[in-house]
This record gives sequence, C-alpha cells and structure tokens, in this order.
Amino acid sequence: MFLEADLHTHTVASGHAYSTVKELAEAAEKRGLKLIAITDHGLKMPGGPHEYHFGNLVALPRKIGQVEILRGVEANILDTDGTLDLPERLLDQLDIVLAGFHTGTGFDGCSQEEYTRAALAALANPRVHIIVHPGNPEFPIHIEKLVLAAAAQHKALEINNNSFHVSRQGSLPRCQFLAKLARKHGVWVALNSDAHIFSSVGNFARAWQVARSAGITEDQILNLTAARVKEYLGWHRRHPHLDQEGKTWSGSTSQSRAVGV
Ligand SMILES: [Zn+2]
Ligand SMILES: [Zn+2]
Repeated sequence: MFLEADLHTHTVASGHAYSTVKELAEAAEKRGLKLIAITDHGLKMPGGPHEYHFGNLVALPRKIGQVEILRGVEANILDTDGTLDLPERLLDQLDIVLAGFHTGTGFDGCSQEEYTRAALAALANPRVHIIVHPGNPEFPIHIEKLVLAAAAQHKALEINNNSFHVSRQGSLPRCQFLAKLARKHGVWVALNSDAHIFSSVGNFARAWQVARSAGITEDQILNLTAARVKEYLGWHRRHPHLDQEGKTWSGSTSQSRAVGV
C-alpha cells in the first residue's frame, strides 16, 4: 500500500522540530508523496509559534516541486468545552485543522470523563478535521465514544506513527482498540508521520501495521490519495453544521461500504 499524503508534519516553527517547509517538501517528493500538510503546534505549546505564523501561512506556495502544500495547525484542546488555542478567524483561513491534547498547555491531570468531553467537543467543531493521537494514555479519553461520534460526523481519527517510536509511551494497545472500533464503525482513519524532522516525512509503517491488523483497508484511509483528502476537506467546508443537519457522506470514496462490514 502507498499513501500519497502526510497530513501531520512540523517545521522549525514548532520550536522542537528541526526542518524547514522546503526540507519537508523535498523529502516528501523523494518519497513520492503528492501532498503534505504543514501543521505546526498551536499557540499554547511551549516554544511554539506566534499567531502571526498562522496568519502568514498564505505566503506558502501551493506547490513545492511536485508536492502540494496544505496550510494547517495542530491545535491544542484546552478545556472541556473543546476550546482551541488559535482564534477562529485564523482557523477559518487554514486548509486543515488537527486537534489534540499536549502536556504543558494547561490541561493536564484531568479525568477520563473530562478529556472525553473535551475531545468530543473539539470533534464537533466544524473547523476541526482530525483528532490527533487519540490513543495517548496520558489523556485517557473514552475511545468508543470518540469513534461513534467520529462515525456520526464523518470525521477522521489519527493513528500517529510517532506514538510507536519516540512519543506517547503506552499508546499501542489503545490504538489497536481504536483501530478495531474504527473498522467496525467505518470511521475515516488518517495514518500520519507527525514528522519533526524531514527524514520522518511519509513514515507510516507502524501506523499502517496497527490499522491493517485491525482489518482496516485502503477504503477507510483518508490520506490514501491527495484527491481523497481534498474531497474530504471540501465536503466538510460545504457541511459546517453537520450535527444539526444530520447530513450524510455523499463523496465518491467508499466510507459507506466500510460501515457495518
Ligand atoms: Zn501532537
Ligand atoms: Zn504533531
């Protein structure tokens, strides 16, 4: 299996990552990727970017070499209301918004119930496209509730390759459980590198192992093709009030086939 898109990468702007946009794009092209999202951390991340970073992402070219560039953020979820650490006017300017929990951003040491409420609220935010590393045991959300909500809202959950290498120890069993439930309920899964250095871009190997072991097939992987990613983002832009309107997915990808199989 080959994935064309990596939807979660960091540049030097994150403060603890080591490559430039150009280096990430060049590494992506070498790997044969067609699209990457630049998703530096939100404002509350210690050492992270100033909000001008996000306002000025319009400066990025749409394509570097053969690789399309999406302008994004990995926003921090700050409380049980799902508040994110980037103003709405800036979120609205971005192509893709990832949201997740991180230590050091003021929302540590809470209960499963609180993290679950927070994650569900962030997921329901029409500006949010993917919940990242939901298997992190440090922020023990109720995985089944998240999967069911993602299914209802046609949103994607991430299996983060970095969670099995350098970060978030203990994620594997929770990610395996999430993958099984995602398979069962036909939820979109994004397999991302979470690269903090150019050489990690497009590295999905462990995440794909976890997904495949759970029976997830290409049908359900959001970033299989660049076209599928753009269709997904476009669909969510056209249906910002999914909750209220109860719209159903009508794209040409086969999420519906995965449901209940
Ligand atoms: Zn993260
Ligand atoms: Zn990240």
